[in-house]
Amino acid sequence: MRLANKIAIITGAGSGIGRASARLFAREGAKVVVADVNDAGGEETVADIKANSGEAIFVHTDVSAASEVKHLVKVTMDKFGRIDILFNNAGILTGRSVAVEDLEESVWDRTHDINVKSVFLGAKYAVPEMKRARRGVIINTASMGGIRPWKYSTAYASSKGAVIALTKSLAIELASFGIRVNCINPTATDTPLIRQYTPKNISPEEFTKQWASTIPLGHVVTVEDVAYAALYLASDESAMLTGTGINVDGGRGI
Ligand code: NAD
Repeated sequence: MRLANKIAIITGAGSGIGRASARLFAREGAKVVVADVNDAGGEETVADIKANSGEAIFVHTDVSAASEVKHLVKVTMDKFGRIDILFNNAGILTGRSVAVEDLEESVWDRTHDINVKSVFLGAKYAVPEMKRARRGVIINTASMGGIRPWKYSTAYASSKGAVIALTKSLAIELASFGIRVNCINPTATDTPLIRQYTPKNISPEEFTKQWASTIPLGHVVTVEDVAYAALYLASDESAMLTGTGINVDGGRGI
């Protein structure tokens, strides 16, 4: 197994990419701490892992709140005694098609709190434990939107661009402690986050077809595609990767 006995915190694991990664990590031998604001979703992920003979616990966590991230780290340490992998994955897509002059300040702030401050807070509270162990892996879910922003993506694209820069900054800061920091940049992935933007005048099937036609490999990104990239970054197979990103985009960014 590729993550035998590793302890992994995965935020946003109550749905989409986080849930798929939690299931995959558990299948590969990790003990998974599922963190999310969505209690029902988080508990469902844990139940699914347990039903497949894996080990997982749920910790209600708002990743934008320092006290809750601190609590997440404490519960993990109390229960498992170390943190091998911190997967900062929770995020929101807001203000998607809004002209900059119409973008509400509150939307900007909320997007940056959940997408960027969360990565800082995760590192702030988990890194001391990783430094003590002199090893650790941090993975951040950024986005192709942070590399090639689309029109009217002010809040989201800037937040993901910041996650990419933060990944590099943390990587250089933490390398001498044996802590690797990388990110994943998915293009539009088939999850509830993106489905909420299905145009009202077309069916979900038509939406998928149109969307697949923009991807050179010809099909949409699945949550499993992203989870496998996370698994590689979490495992010792990627021992010489730090400060980099994996574009899971079917060639769209070329
Ligand atoms: P999703 O909506 O299926 O899952 C996101 C999860 O994050 C949900 O369970 C939600 O409850 C949780 N969450 C939201 N705010 C939170 C908070 N404050 N604290 C804790 N948890 C919170 O979406 P997804 O597509 O799986 O998104 C996962 C990550 O992937 C996000 O960072 C997103 O920006 C990124 N991403 C998604 C796509 C895509 O097209 N789906 C593309 C690129 C990047």
